Amino acid sequence: MEKRQEIISGKAKSVYTTDEPNRLIMFFRDDTSAFDGRKVEQLDRKGMVNNKFNAFIMEQLEAAGVPTHFDKLLSEQETLVKRLDMMPIECVVRNIAAGSICKRLGVKEGIDIIPPTFELFLKNDELHDPMINEYHCLSFGWAKEEHITIAKQLTFKVNDVLKELFLTGNMLLVDYKLEFGLYDGEVVLGDEFTPDGCRLWDKDTREKLDKDRFRQDLGDVVESYEVVGKRLGVNFD
Ligand code: ADP
Ligand code: UDP
Repeated sequence: MEKRQEIISGKAKSVYTTDEPNRLIMFFRDDTSAFDGRKVEQLDRKGMVNNKFNAFIMEQLEAAGVPTHFDKLLSEQETLVKRLDMMPIECVVRNIAAGSICKRLGVKEGIDIIPPTFELFLKNDELHDPMINEYHCLSFGWAKEEHITIAKQLTFKVNDVLKELFLTGNMLLVDYKLEFGLYDGEVVLGDEFTPDGCRLWDKDTREKLDKDRFRQDLGDVVESYEVVGKRLGVNFD
């Protein structure tokens, strides 16, 4: 597979075309960003850890019947994926209150959210990823109704699969963000699932094991991501 031109340079990953028009190479950089890119640091080994972590999770999801863009690991920091026509929206499910919902709705961090909530955000750093609803997607052409319906169903299916998976490693899946795109008209999970885009707490101590360690300067960011992976059986060698 020949790596050609860089077409996206995101905050944490770079995306390249290949000699196959339907395939892209995602390169997981060591860059870590928070607060819409206002806090950025290079963390040694983070690209490798997230690349392998993501491959493991995508394979689990695919096996559980969630269509994903994952094709195969190419190297320590590269993965081959299907080229999707991405919807510019983020789908967020929350099982426990943390992060923006606490500020927005005045709810206390750590309370169980029953049933789990589903929220949509517009992917737009300049506007600080504002919260939107389905009507905005339809009216402004960001996504079609049938595609949102499927993305929502798949996002909840991911919750069923991953809540159980993280429990096997004695961890709570607090919340997470997913991005979907279209491949031949089908809604497919794209981007990544790593501790950069979700919140994970130790079930007993409620210690934060995800990107909040970076946001809140708690230290041991990549080390924690690796602990999470190892508890699930991810091989980082
Ligand atoms: P950000 O967009 O938040 O800065 P990244 O650094 O992770 O994030 O950039 C990755 C980019 O690649 C994002 O814009 C994402 O929507 C896009 N992307 C992810 N998967 C695919 C895919 N399969 N096909 C096309 N684009 C993708
Ligand atoms: N999230 C993300 N990218 C974003 C916004 C949120 O991956 O641009 C993830 C975040 O890591 C968390 C979940 O989505 O797991 C909910 O995030 P929240 O709305 O609480 O915002 P935050 O407090 O992270 O700014």
